[in-house]
Formats: sequence, C-alpha cells, structure tokens
Amino acid sequence: MSRVFAEGDRALIVDLKQRRYLVALQAGGEFHSHAGYVPHDSIIGQSEGTIVRSTKGAPYLVLRPTLAEFVLKMKRGAQVIYPKDLGPILMLADIFPGAVVLESGVGSGALSMTLLRAGARVHGYEIRPDFAARARSNVSSFLGPEALERYHVEERDCYGGIDLTNLDRIVLDLPEPWQVVKHAQHALRPGGILLAYTPSVIQVSQLREALDNHGFALVETIEVLHRSWHVEGQAVRPDHRMVAHTGFLTHARYVPR
Ligand code: SAH
Repeated sequence: MSRVFAEGDRALIVDLKQRRYLVALQAGGEFHSHAGYVPHDSIIGQSEGTIVRSTKGAPYLVLRPTLAEFVLKMKRGAQVIYPKDLGPILMLADIFPGAVVLESGVGSGALSMTLLRAGARVHGYEIRPDFAARARSNVSSFLGPEALERYHVEERDCYGGIDLTNLDRIVLDLPEPWQVVKHAQHALRPGGILLAYTPSVIQVSQLREALDNHGFALVETIEVLHRSWHVEGQAVRPDHRMVAHTGFLTHARYVPR
C-alpha cells in the first residue's frame, strides 16, 4: 500500500537523533519541537519517507509507525507488553488467522493489536471499564474500525470463570494466572494452548503447579533477553545497557485425559 499521508493518518516524525514522535495529522495542525514547528499541512499529501523542515530549518523524516513503534508511543492505561515479548508470544502461542483466542486482561491493547494483526479473533476479559475502552480505541486507531469486528471485550473478572468453549488459545497477562487454569480446562479445545506472561518467577511456580494438576502437557517457561549493539566504524560491540528483564513466558498444551 503506497498512499500519501491524509488528514487523520498517524505519522511518525523522526529527528536527527532518531527520537520518534507520533502525531495524528490534522489540517492546520502543528508539531512543536525545540527547533520551531512543522505544520501538519507540509506532511499531508506527501509520501512516506519524505523529509520536512521545521520553521527553524531542522529536518525531520516522516514515516508511518510500525506496530512496535505505535505500541511504544500510544496512550496507555495499564503497562503494556513490549515488542520484545509480543513477537515471541505469537510463535509460542502459535497464533494463526482465524484462531479463536481469549485474552485477559486486555490493559492498553498492545497484545490485542498484535493478536488481531496476526489474524486472530479475540475475546477479551478485562475488569477495568476504563482500560477496556482504552484498548478498543487503541485497536481501532492502529488497525482501523473494521478490526473491531474481530475484537470483543467484556468487562468481567477472568478468575470467576470463562463462558466460552472450544477456544484455540488462551493468552493471559494478569496477576494470578493460576486462578484461570481450572476454567481454561473447560474452555480450551484438546490440543489448545495456554500462554501466560508474568513478571515474577514466584508467579511462574504457582502457574506451573496449576498447569501440572489440570491436564496440561509440554509446559515450558522462557525469557527473552534483548541486547542491542553499538556499530560505528571500528567500534563494534554490545551496547552497555540492555533490556534484561520484562517478564517470563510460560506456555502449555491442553491434553485432556
Ligand atoms: N497485555 C496488556 C496489558 C495488560 S495489564 C497490553 O499489552 O496492553 C493487566 C490487565 O489485567 C489490567 O488491565 C488489569 O485491569 C487486568 N486484570 C487484572 N486482573 C484481572 C482479572 N481477574 N480479570 C480480568 N482482567 C484483569
């Protein structure tokens, strides 16, 4: 798809130091920086990759945001799962087009967008109405309102039970995923996958015990370490800082006996 920027589109504005800013383009709008401002009208009608200048002459590169960039810049209610883990979740939970997935809680919708973009049909259980609304609006803003046809969020407590059956996948990001395991047993189809993201290893222990006691097999817990590299002339080495910890990913298959 090669479309020029139109009013209402999201644009990612990148400065010379590679700092990224997300804007929603409006006729007459202005993007203000330390070097004057960029009128949105100088972006509307241009193609991706265009370079615009601020009123004080600073150059900015303009692109459409990727999903990862949008997730890092979008409005958040709850803490999001970062791109480092979102990619692996798609593989470990084996998300496919048309997969019927229960996701709980939905928080800011970062994981929802990732599942929806991979083609899944997502039922969300979220206890906080304000987060449910934020997730819906983030999904619609990045994927377009048509994505809402595959995205249904109910305001309810996932620990109280699951009113869905024959699910392909259950993906959890809530404090006590082990409380969901007994319900998952009735909601997942045989061979279905449960995946949970948990920041603490104590949560992993409790979850693993529940999975072992409720007919789950092929259980595995992993973490993803993200180390970027500094590459400049002869100086080629790992960066001094890295994202060493966000959360553990535990996944298992439901195998009724
Ligand atoms: N994965 C989300 C962030 C989820 S944050 C993202 O990537 O954006 C955790 C969410 O779980 C919060 O929104 C919280 O309100 C919700 N939550 C906590 N306990 C819950 C429960 N028992 N049932 C449903 N949602 C719950």
